[in-house]
Amino acid sequence: MRRLRSSEAIRSLVRETLLHPRRFILPLFVCPGEGIRREIGSMPGNYQMSIDELVKECTEVRSLGIGGVILFGLPESKDEIASGAYADDGIVQQAIRAIRREVPGLLIVTDVCNCEYTSHGHCGYIKDGDVDNDTTLQWLAKSALSHARAGADIVAPSDMMDGRVAAIRQALDANGFERIPILSYAAKFASVFYGPFREAADSAPQFGDRRSYQMDPANGREAMREIELDLEEGADMIMVKPAMPYLDLICEARRRFDVPIAAYQVSGEYSMIMAAVRNGWLDHDRAMLESLTSITRAGATIILTYFAKPAARLLG
Ligand SMILES: [Zn+2]
Repeated sequence: MRRLRSSEAIRSLVRETLLHPRRFILPLFVCPGEGIRREIGSMPGNYQMSIDELVKECTEVRSLGIGGVILFGLPESKDEIASGAYADDGIVQQAIRAIRREVPGLLIVTDVCNCEYTSHGHCGYIKDGDVDNDTTLQWLAKSALSHARAGADIVAPSDMMDGRVAAIRQALDANGFERIPILSYAAKFASVFYGPFREAADSAPQFGDRRSYQMDPANGREAMREIELDLEEGADMIMVKPAMPYLDLICEARRRFDVPIAAYQVSGEYSMIMAAVRNGWLDHDRAMLESLTSITRAGATIILTYFAKPAARLLG
């Protein structure tokens, strides 16, 4: 076996998995104001940005040949009914319009959820101390529609309510947006690795946790069932989230379903690597590329990653 490992020229000739910046999507956090670029403490190199700064960032993302961006919003104010999530002049809706105008050609994906917009930090309407599924579906459909109206290319529901893909598909189709694809966060686990994101998006639940709607990390078969249901409801692409602790499920999904599969290398995965790098325990470039290569090798076609920019630079 060592004959084919003897030089970089031979190794690259027989390499089975190649990374390409086109397959990366960079998550971005947009906040109100002007000239704001606030670094997220636990995620070095990532920022909360006002729209003017976001547009600059997106220009750079486009010039690096990265596949696209996914937007998360930090609204001016939050309330019980997540009105900022589906307002036509909401923070994400404004950001979409600005990027459309200033950075044409850049693919814009939007995260469709309510937790960044509710005063309690949960992903939907609270009834009797828990998130009410069907009321939340109406908010999600309205949000997805408002994103499509603003100019989003793809909507990506991340809430884990039952029936959300069908509800969103129906709302989009009824309003002339038949051509907008849905990337469903189909197998999203109640993971500890989302911790740093909650600082980034200011979306920590004020009480309880999200285990009554996000998946139990122990359940792989149930993940396949979630994916199957989302595809039946009309999802065009599906996602497994987080990525590295769930490579087995990316692999299994790749084997079973002939649709594009995305994986989200979440904030905690990024922060762990960056913390080790900052301590001098890991080499940044190699850790970054090895993690992205593993996710691709498992079967992901698309990777949502906070490493999109440095990885794209390195890959040329
Ligand atoms: Zn949420």
